[in-house]
Amino acid sequence: MCPADEEKSQAKQKDCLFCDIARGDMPSTEIYSDDQCMAFKDINPVANIHVLIVPRDHVTHLTCISINHENLLGHMLRIGAQVAQQTGIAKSGYRLTINQGNDAGQIVDHLHIHLLGGGQLERLGTPIESI
Ligand code: AMP
Ligand code: ZN
Repeated sequence: MCPADEEKSQAKQKDCLFCDIARGDMPSTEIYSDDQCMAFKDINPVANIHVLIVPRDHVTHLTCISINHENLLGHMLRIGAQVAQQTGIAKSGYRLTINQGNDAGQIVDHLHIHLLGGGQLERLGTPIESI
């Protein structure tokens, strides 16, 4: 947990949408669950398959992770690949994405991986030379 997280940890966890979902206090369309993470459908999908892989621990940002989170992150990536199999998009292809901070458009301050697929995805962006 990074210092900023530590300061806010109790208040934030009480006030965190994804902690609420992980605790079962908020409904979600669950796809997968274990003691470290869960996966549920994004409420506002931007692809035919759009699932969020969310740690049960309240880790806010990728920039806040430490060496202690390496196993958790590896686990979340493996579960992302497993959910891709489960939802039938492993062969056709998919994207696993983490939005970190404002410029990336992170809106929920509880770390999560987006699993996107089920159709041709847009390229990651416009080459910088053409902007
Ligand atoms: P990010 O921009 O990376 O923070 O993504 C947060 C994602 O959470 C967005 O794609 C939202 O559509 C999604 N989201 C917000 N509230 C919920 C909810 N209650 N259940 C499922 N997904 C949600
Ligand atoms: Zn949280």
